[in-house]
Amino acid sequence: MSKLKIAIQKSGRLSEKSIKLLEECGIKFPNGGGKLITEATNFPIEILFLRDDDIPQYVEQQVADLGIIGENVLVESKKKINLVEKLGFSSCRLSLAVPKETQYESLEFFRNKRIATSYPNILSEYFQKLQIEVTIEVISGSVEIAPGIGLADGICDIVSSGSTLLSNGLKEVEKVLDSQAVLVANHDLEDSKKQILEKLLFRIQSVRKAKE
Ligand code: ATP
Ligand code: ZN
Repeated sequence: MSKLKIAIQKSGRLSEKSIKLLEECGIKFPNGGGKLITEATNFPIEILFLRDDDIPQYVEQQVADLGIIGENVLVESKKKINLVEKLGFSSCRLSLAVPKETQYESLEFFRNKRIATSYPNILSEYFQKLQIEVTIEVISGSVEIAPGIGLADGICDIVSSGSTLLSNGLKEVEKVLDSQAVLVANHDLEDSKKQILEKLLFRIQSVRKAKE
């Protein structure tokens, strides 16, 4: 019987909760030792530990059948993969922020301004719809420091409590996208894998119901 391959984040904000979800589904697997791939002992599934940003591509290319990622990463990737289930953890939002002393009244503020972000696809579509021209400066990390060092007039980044913004002298002014962890799948799973996915989904839904 073929096994279902699920990719989860190797280390980061989604890792622990992804592992916990699988464990709560009754799936037992050896974990630790920095292994990149591990096999469950009581369920036909293999677990791949990867960088979250790489997961959409691997699921599209069928290197993995399933993945657990943030919706923000799914939308930004533009990959043709299915959102199977919202998982209800790691909730956050992608927001626009500006230096806190800035007089901000509306999105018009951003016209012809420079915005630093790691989410160029989401952000350019957002401003295209509004018909507001902006310059997007793509940086892969520590986006919050961009205004302070004169790289940008504002930023677009993941926010949960807002404390990181505050400690960098920024204030949140607009929400661009709501996000949470989601289960994604390749478009054309073979039937035997679909059946395993159905079993897994049933368990995920039971775990979530039990917590309500
Ligand atoms: P990697 O090294 O795997 O690329 P990363 O640095 O890109 O990791 P993390 O910071 O671990 O990613 O975040 C992973 C995901 O967790 C994000 O894509 C987002 O969906 C979610 N997330 C990020 N920050 C927060 C937060 N402050 N609160 C809740 N969820 C968050
Ligand atoms: Zn990442």
